[in-house]
Amino acid sequence: YSRQILSRLTTSTIRSRCFASTLVLAEQIEGGKLAPVTLNTLTAAAQLKQDIDCVIFGTEKTNETANELKKFTNCNIKKILLAENAGFKGLLSESVTPVLLDIQKKNNYTHILGGSSTFAKGVLPRLAALLDVQPISDVTAVIDKSQYSRFIYAGNAILKLKSNDPVQIITVRGTAFEAAKQGTGSGEAQIEKVNSTPNNDLSEFVSRQVQQSERPELASARIIFSGGRALKSKENFKLLYDLADLFPGQATVGASRAAVDAGYCANDLQIGQTGKIVAPDLYVAIGISGAIQHIAGMKDSKVIVAINKDADSPIFAIADYGLTGDLFKVLPELTEKLKKK
Ligand code: FAD
Repeated sequence: YSRQILSRLTTSTIRSRCFASTLVLAEQIEGGKLAPVTLNTLTAAAQLKQDIDCVIFGTEKTNETANELKKFTNCNIKKILLAENAGFKGLLSESVTPVLLDIQKKNNYTHILGGSSTFAKGVLPRLAALLDVQPISDVTAVIDKSQYSRFIYAGNAILKLKSNDPVQIITVRGTAFEAAKQGTGSGEAQIEKVNSTPNNDLSEFVSRQVQQSERPELASARIIFSGGRALKSKENFKLLYDLADLFPGQATVGASRAAVDAGYCANDLQIGQTGKIVAPDLYVAIGISGAIQHIAGMKDSKVIVAINKDADSPIFAIADYGLTGDLFKVLPELTEKLKKK
């Protein structure tokens, strides 16, 4: 009996060694589009230097999402699995995870990656628990096939970790990896339908309320005007919206937790350790002191500008450009000047 187990173990170890391959949890958003974070995840997956399969869950249009994914011909995508079923409505983790587990049992991937999004952060730790392996979350660098970096202590230290698990389940911090670029030539990835169907009697999707805005999402905005406690009221946040609206399609508004907690703006604008992680081309911190929990969410921005009336404010330590002044004077002046440009 023990010889049988040993031989089975050896076969499975050899199989996983021979066919080391990666599965990327590709995310579909409205209209069958590919979520931008999937492109950052593909870059991280490509650094593992092994064949990549992708899986797309959705209720419809997974074929369209797959066709978009196929254009990333440089990423070594061999196969795209389509898990399309009405039962995936709302992409509930309870519906998706058992099907993902079936996929893993059939294919024995050595690495399974997803973006650090609500979807993947719900599904992948569940999958890790079912496979009895340790999930590795919010990875910022892939060192090799078993070693990764991630931030700890609110971004104050970088942890380099090594995992000995046979299946490595990883979420990727999107802002730490460049988005994959479309390649030339036609994509050769095969498309395959997944037969397993969801069977979820634990939870049910009821509805989703989405904040409608003309401005881009925080994650994809090129410019963010972010306001802190110093804005003093919801009405004063209009100063930031006025600025953002001078850059249509490019700029949006963010906030510190103090501003969100004070009710000056919606909580989905919060940036930081317990909010969103962003890395725009330009981040303008206005009346924000620069607490470590805030910096954890924006320090990868390409250019950081700080406007603060206190010259000793810690935000100036990470800013590329700083302006010491009262925001209630500076912002109207800045808006007027930009309008004339
Ligand atoms: P303050 O620290 O009060 O700073 C206000 C700044 O405005 C000051 O620097 C002041 O000089 C300046 N100012 C005042 N008046 C003017 C004026 N008229 N013109 C120009 N400047 C002016 N915070 C986050 O932001 N995101 C998070 O995700 C987050 N997560 C947290 C998680 C935990 C577990 C904890 C404990 C805290 C977290 N925080 C987070 C809170 C964080 O510690 C700070 O309290 C918060 O970031 C402070 O927000 P603020 O900079 O807007 O306010």
